[in-house]
Amino acid sequence: MAIDESVISSIVKEVMTRINLTEAPSGQFGIFTDMNEAIEAAKKAQAVVRTMSMDQREKIISKIRRKTIENAEILARMGVEETGMGNVGHKILKHRLVAENTPGTEDITTVAWSGDRGLTLVEMGPFGVIGSITPCTNPSETVICNAIGMLAGGNTVVFNPHPAAIKTSNFAVNMINEASMEEGGPCNIACSLVKPTMDSSAVMMKHKDIPLLVATGGPGVVTAVLSSGKRGIGAGAGNPPALVDATADVRKAAEDIVNGCTFDNNLPCIAEKEVVAVSSVCDELIHYMVTEQGCYLASKEEQDKLIATVLTPKGLNRKCVGRDARTLLGMIGVSVPSNIRCIIFEGEKEHPLIAEELMMPILGIVRAKDFDDALEKAIWLEHGNRHSAHIHSKNIDNITRYAKALDTAILVKNAPSYAALGFGGEGFCTFTIASRTGEGLTSASTFTKRRRCTMAESLCIR
Ligand code: NAD
Repeated sequence: MAIDESVISSIVKEVMTRINLTEAPSGQFGIFTDMNEAIEAAKKAQAVVRTMSMDQREKIISKIRRKTIENAEILARMGVEETGMGNVGHKILKHRLVAENTPGTEDITTVAWSGDRGLTLVEMGPFGVIGSITPCTNPSETVICNAIGMLAGGNTVVFNPHPAAIKTSNFAVNMINEASMEEGGPCNIACSLVKPTMDSSAVMMKHKDIPLLVATGGPGVVTAVLSSGKRGIGAGAGNPPALVDATADVRKAAEDIVNGCTFDNNLPCIAEKEVVAVSSVCDELIHYMVTEQGCYLASKEEQDKLIATVLTPKGLNRKCVGRDARTLLGMIGVSVPSNIRCIIFEGEKEHPLIAEELMMPILGIVRAKDFDDALEKAIWLEHGNRHSAHIHSKNIDNITRYAKALDTAILVKNAPSYAALGFGGEGFCTFTIASRTGEGLTSASTFTKRRRCTMAESLCIR
């Protein structure tokens, strides 16, 4: 007897629906063709997550961590291949960092007051389904980091990832759902689209079942989310200056700054994007950068060629973002040895390669006459993003003045910028730094709402 394939297909579909597995045309879990469907599926999954114990949530999170470590190299290679940006070795480290250092349910805490009039608790409750828009610079890192924190808070999440990194982002979404199901949780704790667009993001921003939006990206997306009329967490652009003052260990500063600047080809928003050095140490700093840290000192003519290559009338040339220094130099016809990892030059703060957030290992150095002048120039260069700033100094008064004046979500002292992500520094990891809306480094608790629960005149057992 011939088997009717359409009957089998409809039976499989029905079974999948009943056991809450939704397979997309791509064969990946949690990936939909329509934003409304994705939100509906995430809503159903959230109804299950809401009833889970914290232990159950944590079991799924542990599985996500394990799978992220197992797939770190695949995700890293996929990210570089798909976007053409970044460095595989560094991306592997970023995935390990996200797996090991993103806070889980331990971040969900309760405040209690007990006394003569009874007991009051303030607990962190879920928002429900969170809408998250993610960048192409750290695509799967951001998806995994957001998903861990949001799930720990009892939420599910629908992503509208950057179209240029959709394969990598959706691989991570599928992996997260596999982790959930393997630990007895529902499918669709994280959802995404086969083809995210501006239209699908607009649907998400207006949808009645999305109470919280999280945007990680440039100024356009943060402004869009903050104009949506919903609660928005905005993790926007930065242009972090690294100030080097007269008291710094200049040799170490050169090493730290170049390490931070070249990490993943300068893609992280926190990475050193330019240096402001006081005149008395500026030449020494450049000397160490060139002789010990693999920096290429670009001539005026080469700077002009770089400007013409990496910048276009519409902004950044996307073909240059996240490329390594040798590739960028190759684009202007300069061939350099394999140890070259950063392009440096001295220039005024208004120099286009200094004032712009380039996200490539091109590091302009601005000379300042003294600390006051350096401070003024660094403030100007940060452009009021209040995102990240770094300083190399042994003078506590200078560090304090810098920290107060720059007023950024992140300030790293005497270390590479990535120390702020818990990589060689204390503290947890995140890839969503809510600079613009003030939450700072986001974690599970950021994705919860505070709820007060009061019992009057009883349950105080003192
Ligand atoms: P991008 O702004 O081009 O894109 C980010 C996301 O927003 C993508 O999903 C994109 O499709 C979407 N998007 C862009 N404009 C939009 C709009 N008007 N409406 C709706 N969606 C929109 O950024 P990118 O190139 O992917 O990432 C680099 C930028 O993101 C840099 O400026 C960097 O500093 C910033 N960034 C910030 C953080 C942070 O934690 N603060 C983290 C990573 C990247």
